[in-house]
Amino acid sequence: MRERQIYLDHASTTPVDPEVLEAMLPYFTQYAGNPSSIHHAGRMALQALDDAREQVALVLGCTRREIVFTGGGSEGANLAVKGAALAQRARGKGAHVIVSAIEHHAVLHAAEYLAHDGFDVTVLPVNAAGLVEPEALAQALRPETILVSVMYANNEIGTIQPIAAIGALCRERGVLVHTDAVQAPGSLPLDVEALKVDLLSLTAHKCYGPKGAGLLYVRRGTPLLPQINGGAQERRRRAGTENVPGIVGLAAALTRAEERRISYAAQMHMLRERLIEGVLDRVPQSWLNGDRNQRLPNNANLGFAGVEGESILLLLDQVGIAASSGSACTSGSLEPSHVLVALGMSPDEANGSVRFSLGASNSREEIDYVLEVLPPMIERLRAVVPGYEPIAHG
Ligand SMILES: *Cc1c(COP(=O)(O)O)cnc(C)c1O
Repeated sequence: MRERQIYLDHASTTPVDPEVLEAMLPYFTQYAGNPSSIHHAGRMALQALDDAREQVALVLGCTRREIVFTGGGSEGANLAVKGAALAQRARGKGAHVIVSAIEHHAVLHAAEYLAHDGFDVTVLPVNAAGLVEPEALAQALRPETILVSVMYANNEIGTIQPIAAIGALCRERGVLVHTDAVQAPGSLPLDVEALKVDLLSLTAHKCYGPKGAGLLYVRRGTPLLPQINGGAQERRRRAGTENVPGIVGLAAALTRAEERRISYAAQMHMLRERLIEGVLDRVPQSWLNGDRNQRLPNNANLGFAGVEGESILLLLDQVGIAASSGSACTSGSLEPSHVLVALGMSPDEANGSVRFSLGASNSREEIDYVLEVLPPMIERLRAVVPGYEPIAHG
């Protein structure tokens, strides 16, 4: 094992920034009151909550009342998709929902739930580069459509969707729009007016904040049925005692991500290009998944003919490199990623893909180390694959 680990899996989660941790710590012990309590300890916690709300509202360009703190990205997506759809049906509106084919499972499975509950759900295809085409969305919109959910940036292939165009189109037709923006902080601007969305979900742990804290932006006047019932917290939109340290961490992480966005994105872009160009140069029969330019600055999802991504991951792990593959192992067989399949890839091509997602800790030296060890690994794996014949690949 290499002494120093090389972490290239920031799209799965990020370590907590020490300054973010520092901001959180007092709220575990010193100011540990319940924000709903009337006494001093409670008021201190409530003050922290108010400050955090003010900070994130500043980052998103919205008002404090439009922020609902959640337990993370999955909860935010569920509250947005189910909450907005169910509230509109209750008001007697149509019941057609559109989600893109490459959404995170939090959105896809929430939409499946709605389909079981009688909603008409359209899963909108993406093009071969992994982009939603606004014209295709325009075609899919119906008079009964009440909600569209398209992610801002994809977690597997990093493609950045034309959210402002989608938002404008839907607004024209009176349709609500949710965007899962979990992968955006630090890389993309988060101004909800420019994005023209009604709902936007975020989580802290993908941008150097803690796990289990997130938020949903809910534009003023947007119908929303709470998905967790109980106390009156978050203006009755999300019951439960607030995760004060987590929310403080979320606000600190989002603020820092926005402050550093331009320089962080430039640094990530430089390293990513080095990695992509280096791999495509050195490894025959390799390719990049997702659009070459409309992609997150820290995402490199690469495909290798004739090898399984899982095998590459195991060899990389042996030399201290952490990455992810686009496949999930269910009952012993590899299920190809729904995202890569949506791009039109075969299960074999999809299973031969590896996602490298870069972050603040990575250096050029680390990328160069990957470029040194990866090509011989692929060669070794191909040598043991029976019947692997180099094939032409676009
Ligand atoms: C990680 C992720 C989520 C889920 O967020 P959690 O906080 O882990 O629940 C949702 N959407 C995208 C795009 C993600 O990358």
